[in-house]
Amino acid sequence: MRYSIPRFWREIKSHYRLVGTKCRKCGRISYPPSTTCRYCGSRDVEEIELWERGRVVTWTIIYSAPEGFNEYKPLVIAIVELLESKVKILTRLTDVDPEEIREGMIVEPVLRRISEDGETGIIHYGVVFRPPITGGGDES
Ligand code: ZN
Repeated sequence: MRYSIPRFWREIKSHYRLVGTKCRKCGRISYPPSTTCRYCGSRDVEEIELWERGRVVTWTIIYSAPEGFNEYKPLVIAIVELLESKVKILTRLTDVDPEEIREGMIVEPVLRRISEDGETGIIHYGVVFRPPITGGGDES
């Protein structure tokens, strides 16, 4: 796995929206957003919303979570490639049985409570991904 777990915990706390930056020079999208294009170094970038479905590229199941995340055990952390922008995002999967996760599985973003600071009462929200909710009993 390319991403370290400590980096995941740092990043997820700062991501309340699914936003990247698009370079006006080379057209590529940086995620997480950056004031400098990570591909060509241009500073001519604009923020764009990346709220779109993606597919699971790879995932890791974590059975021991840091303090404050215990209610999510086991945790499923995945790299999801967004369908349109092709941006890869490190995220948590929710509402899914770890046994049922497959490479290429389609997931959609949803805003969820990430953690609660017991001392200050501050609740952190973040973007996580889940299998799409298909209403009406559509089995396809
Ligand atoms: Zn660029």
